[in-house]
Amino acid sequence: MTRTRRAAAFLGAVALLSAVATAPAAGQSLFDRLRQAASVARTLLPISTEKEIEIGRGIAATIAGRFPVSTDAGLTRYVNLVGLTVASQAPRGDITYRFAVLETPIVNAYAAPGGYIFITKGSLDLIRSEAELAGVLAHEVGHVNRRHVIEQIRKSDTMREVKNTLDLQGFVLDRVVGTGANALFTGLSRGDEMEADSLGLEYASSAGYDPGGLAAFIGRLDQHAGEGPVSEFFATHPKPNERVDRLNSIARREGLPGGVMLADRYRATVGH
Ligand SMILES: [Zn+2]
Repeated sequence: MTRTRRAAAFLGAVALLSAVATAPAAGQSLFDRLRQAASVARTLLPISTEKEIEIGRGIAATIAGRFPVSTDAGLTRYVNLVGLTVASQAPRGDITYRFAVLETPIVNAYAAPGGYIFITKGSLDLIRSEAELAGVLAHEVGHVNRRHVIEQIRKSDTMREVKNTLDLQGFVLDRVVGTGANALFTGLSRGDEMEADSLGLEYASSAGYDPGGLAAFIGRLDQHAGEGPVSEFFATHPKPNERVDRLNSIARREGLPGGVMLADRYRATVGH
C-alpha cells in the first residue's frame, strides 16, 4: 500500500471516528463505548506498564519454549511490517510491538502482554491475503491494548497475595507469568475475544485494509473444523460463524470503507 493511500485511509477513519464521537449518547459508536471501557479499566489496574512488559517477556519466553520461533528473516520482517501497520492505529503509545512466527502446524495466535505477539505457521498457511493477516494481528493487538491477560492476572489468586506491584519479582513473578501463559493456552473469555474482534476490525480498517479480512480467515477455519491443527483454536475461541456474523454486522453498522486485500503480495512473500 502506498503512503498516500494509507494516509487517505487513515484520514477517512479519523473523519469516521470524529463523526461518531459527536453523535448523541443513544447512538454511540461501538468503538466509542470500547474506548470508555478502556479508560475505566486503566484506573482499576495496579500493574504498571513496566511490570506488564516484564510479565509479557516471561510469557513470550514460555511460548517460545513451547514452539520454536521461525528464523526466516524475510517472513518475520513481513509479519512485523503488517503487524506494526495495524498497531500504529491502536491508542496505546507506551509499548513497543514485536511480532514473531512460531514453527508449528497448529492454527493459532497468541498475544502476550507488553506487545509480544506470535502467529503460527499453521495460521499463515491458511491465510490467503495480507488483509486477513492484518485482521488476525490486529485482533491480537486488541488483546494487548486492552490488557486482557494482565486483567486475568490481576484477578488471580497469586495477585491477591501481592500487596504492592513492586513485589512482582522472583518466584511471585514466575507464578504470575505461569498464570498469564495458562490464560493464553486455555483461552481468554468470550467477552475478551469479542472485544478483540471489534478492536481488530477498527485497527485493520483504519490502517487501510479491507475490513473483511479477519472474518474471511475465521470463516475459512470453519471449513477445517474437526481437523487436528485447528482443534486448539476451536477450543479457545467463540464459535466461528457467530464471530463472522458479528464482524460483518459491525462493519456494516459502522459504515467501514472497503480497503486493500493484497492477496498477491501475501502469496509472493509467504509463498503458497
Ligand atoms: Zn483472541
